Parts: sequence; C-alpha cells; structure tokens
Amino acid sequence: MRFVILALAGCVVAKGQTPVKKSVPPLVQELVLANHILAHEGVLDAYGHVSVRDPKDPAHFWLARHMAAGTVTAADIIQYDLDSKPVNADASAGYTERFIHGEIYRARPDVMAIVHCHAPDVIPFGVSSVPLRPVYHMAGFLEVPVPIFEIRDAAGLTDMLIRTPELGKALAQTLGAKPAALMRGHGAVVVADSLHVVVGRAYYMNMNARLEMQAISLGGSVTYLDPVEAQKTGAQDGFERAWNYWKSQVK
Ligand code: MN
Repeated sequence: MRFVILALAGCVVAKGQTPVKKSVPPLVQELVLANHILAHEGVLDAYGHVSVRDPKDPAHFWLARHMAAGTVTAADIIQYDLDSKPVNADASAGYTERFIHGEIYRARPDVMAIVHCHAPDVIPFGVSSVPLRPVYHMAGFLEVPVPIFEIRDAAGLTDMLIRTPELGKALAQTLGAKPAALMRGHGAVVVADSLHVVVGRAYYMNMNARLEMQAISLGGSVTYLDPVEAQKTGAQDGFERAWNYWKSQVK
C-alpha cells in the first residue's frame, strides 16, 4: 500500500515537473536569459546576438528578432532553419547577420550555441598585429592562434556585415574547428556545445582581451598561459557557477 502511494505520488510530481505541452519551451526561456545576461554583463549592447540549436531538431535553431538583447522576451524568439530562414513564414524581421548562425551550425555539428558580439575590448585584437592569447586561467579555452576573419578576402570592400549566406560560410571557414574567431573591424564570434558555456566563453574572452591590453600597457614582458596550462584549464566547470550568479543578477 505504502509503495503504491509513493509510486503514485512520484508519478504526480514527475507529471507536474515536466508538462507535456508548455507554451514556452525551456530552451527558449534559457535563450531569453542568455540575452539578458550578455547584455547585463556588457558583452552585447544594442547590437550583437546569441542563438541556440534545438537538440531535438538539429536542423533548426532559435534566435531573437531584430532587437537589442537586453529587451528580448520569449515572444521575440524566432525558429530558423540552417538556411537562416524563419520556419514560420510570418515571423518578424530577423537580424541582418543571422547567416552567421545558420552557416556555423551547418559547418559545425558539434556547435549548439553561438554568440556574435561587438564587445569593445576584443576590437583592438582584430585590427592589430598583437594576437589575442590567454593571459589567465578563465580564458584557457581560447585556442591560439585565434583566427581573424578578413571580410575583404571574401567580398572586397563592404559595410563589414555578414549579410549573405556566402559571407556566413566564409566566416565559418575562418572559424574552422576553433571555439572563437575575431572579425576585423567588427567584433567576434564564439561557439560552444551549450548555451551556458557559450555565455561563459563570450564573457571571459572579452575579459581576457581587457586584461591582456592592461598587461601589455604595463610595458614589461608578458607571460601568457603555456598551451599545456591553457589546455588543462580549458574545461572549467561548464561555467555553471557563473551562469547561476549572472542569472541571479538579471532576475
Ligand atoms: Mn555584427
């Protein structure tokens, strides 16, 4: 009898915790949170974006409509296919640079989340001959050399934006198998196998850029992480502690 009651109770709880139909999928809720965190932490401002691939349907990803990350709600999230076309024909206007996401997801089956940012601290490393390299343990995931996308090689003189699938493909090619690439005179793209990790990587790549500039500006020699040190620190804890902290700051 006791066993039956417990079993029934378990069933009720399980049902309550994972309803069959929910108006907003948990992944979309997480993506809204990722938008708010990246805006709050200064990785994204009015521009730049974050997307997540649907693990149950890897040929589709989620990305906000054409708007600033800090103000995104669940109603603003659009589902796209890998051609960066909205699944729903009457979807709101998307980001001009949505092709960054579609083409990287197409080229990299391992990638589950992408951030494209214009964070000020990374810009100097995209335009200078000084390479971006890990200066501390939180950025050990950066694989050196961090590639730099030169849009002139792909399309000559442009307005710098990834406006077409062809430019998205060229950027994905520059990224290769790496976790991040700089975009000369524009920003950066960061990828990961989860939304939490991509948010952590985007944050700490920008922080590393700031710290590297500070170290260089001191004027002495700079000791960077050895590649073995970088490799050993690279995994972190999936940035879970950071995610939970950042989440508490935007709620
Ligand atoms: Mn951009």
